[in-house]
Parts: sequence; C-alpha cells; structure tokens
Amino acid sequence: MFMTITQQLQTAGRPLLSVEFFPPKTEAGRATFDQTAVELLQLKPDFVSVTCGAGGTAAGPTLEISTQLSTQGYRSVMPHCTCVDRSRDEVLDSVDEFVAAGFNNIMALRGDPPKGERYFKPAPDGFRYAAEMVAALRERQPALCIGVAGYPEKHPEALNVDEDIRHLKEKVDAGADFITTQLFLNNGAYFEFVDRCRSEGITAPILPGLLPILSLEQIKRMRTFCDFQVPSRLLQDLEAAQDNPEKAERVGLYWTVEQISELVEGGAPGIHLYLLNRAQTIFYPELSACLARVRGE
Ligand code: FAD
Repeated sequence: MFMTITQQLQTAGRPLLSVEFFPPKTEAGRATFDQTAVELLQLKPDFVSVTCGAGGTAAGPTLEISTQLSTQGYRSVMPHCTCVDRSRDEVLDSVDEFVAAGFNNIMALRGDPPKGERYFKPAPDGFRYAAEMVAALRERQPALCIGVAGYPEKHPEALNVDEDIRHLKEKVDAGADFITTQLFLNNGAYFEFVDRCRSEGITAPILPGLLPILSLEQIKRMRTFCDFQVPSRLLQDLEAAQDNPEKAERVGLYWTVEQISELVEGGAPGIHLYLLNRAQTIFYPELSACLARVRGE
C-alpha cells in the first residue's frame, strides 16, 4: 500500500507533482498512452490519476489503466469514479473494487450531463451530487483518501461562485480530503478561489490543475469540454504566432512555466498537470527545469 495523497501532502515538504491520464478508447490512442506511460516515469510524479468515462457499472477501463500504471512503477495512482448512469450501490461496489485492487486514493465526482443536455440526471437510486457520494464513501471506506473537484472559474451549472463554493464545502464536510481544480490559465482566478474557500471555512489542500499550452487550437478544443477564461495577453501572443507552430508552443509553454512558478511561490500545495496522455510538453527544457524545481531538485 502506498502513502495516501494526504500523507504525501503532509510529509513532502514541497508541492506535489501529479499528472492525469485517461483510458484510451482506440488502438492508436492505446499506443500513444503506452508510450507516454513509459516516458512520463522520468517526470517522477508524486501521484497520477486516471479519469473515468461515462457509463458502465464496473470500475472497468479506469481500473485496468490504474493497475497498468501501478505495475509500471508509478508510486501512487488515484482512480476517478463518477456517478453517471450508476446506482449508489454500483458506485460503491466499483470503489470497493479499486480498494480491493490496492488503491487507497479515489477522486469522487458526480460526472457531466450527457452531451447536449444542460443538467445532470441521476441514475435510478443514484447519487445526485458528489457530496452525497463522498458521504457514502467515507462511511463505507473510512481509511480511503478522497479527492473532489473544485472550479476556480465556477462550475458551469452553478448560479454563482458563492453557491458553488458552498457546495464544495459540503463535499469537504462530507469527508473529502483534498480538492483538485479544473484547469485555468489565469492564476488570479486560483488565488481568489483559494481565498474565498478559506473564508468559507474550507481548509482542505487545493491542488491547481494546469494544461501545458501548445496552440490556440488546443485551447479552443479544450473549451468545448470545460469552461475557462483565456487571458488577453496569452490570446494575443498565440494569435500572433498562429502561422508558426514552434513559436506558438514556445509562447504557450512559457505561459505554463510562469503559471507554475507563480503558483508555487504563492503557496500552492501541488501542481496537477492535464497532459492529455502525451509527454511531449514535459521535455520542453524550460518546463522540464521548472518541474524539477517543483520536485526540489
Ligand atoms: P458536484 O460537486 O456534484 O457539483 C456539480 C454541480 O452541482 C455544481 O454546479 C455544484 O455547484 C452543484 N451542486 C452541488 N451540490 C448541490 C446541491 N446540494 N444543490 C444544488 N446544486 C448543487 N468527469 C468525468 O466524467 N470523469 C472524470 O474522470 C472527471 N475527472 C475530473 C477531475 C477534475 C479535477 C475535475 C475538476 C473535473 C473532472 N470531471 C470528470 C468533470 C466533472 O465530472 C464535471 O465537472 C461535473 O459536471 C461535476 O462534477 P462534480 O464532482 O464537481 O459535481
């Protein structure tokens, strides 16, 4: 059994470095994933997480990929689990599967509404919100380390930031140990979010989620999945480099390096990277040096 993420946060003496993977859906995606999984070992992340796709009643691909990463030498692997199309018992049973397979950290999520629908519809006898899932998990698996999602720029369904933070507090009060954020490009949004959480009494560590930027196209693609603002300076510089992919990469990755440096300086307890199953960005020299500094090297 590995240290939980909470134990790592308490003992590392530096910000944690972590990476999110997703289970590949195609053969080509599988090949890319396998290669990335080998290459990213060089990054020495403190933990990696594995997302959970919609549907299915068992832990399925998330368990398979989590197990592969564990056997490949990743020190600590955190499977994600959502409530989409699953009854309460099915969610809890799938978490039992993860625990039986040796995983002691879980990211507990409600999940997204189906494409084209604005609101989430719980499965018959399913959890309505992640807070309900966290409460049930805490009771069923008292020793489990539970992460939940936070939204510096507000969850799209929430009426306003205050309401969203109130619901985040419900997740923490129900037993969540730490929060990982949705990706953001403007550090001001993270710092303001942390301040508002603290003033609402949320004391759990809040790990910032970052996307290393490669191009304007990549940002546009990501914005079809999640809501985040693009700072005007970054937008202008990426637009100016649109005909020069190498320059766009330099602009984007330099932005990421600046984001990480400022977050660490500002006291962020970790850096969680959304690498989209690709390792190329971590070999960009300035980013690689910056990540080594996060690890205290
Ligand atoms: P909740 O915390 O339940 O919140 C959902 C919405 O309901 C919010 O607007 C909240 O303010 C509101 N709300 C909460 N409680 C109440 C209440 N009592 N009354 C009224 N409103 C309420 N998706 C996947 O499908 N698979 C993944 O692996 C995955 N991983 C993710 C990892 C991270 C770090 C993040 C940030 C997101 C991830 N997502 C994933 C996306 C996530 O599932 C969606 O953002 C989803 O829409 C909300 O999930 P949640 O757990 O934050 O929901």
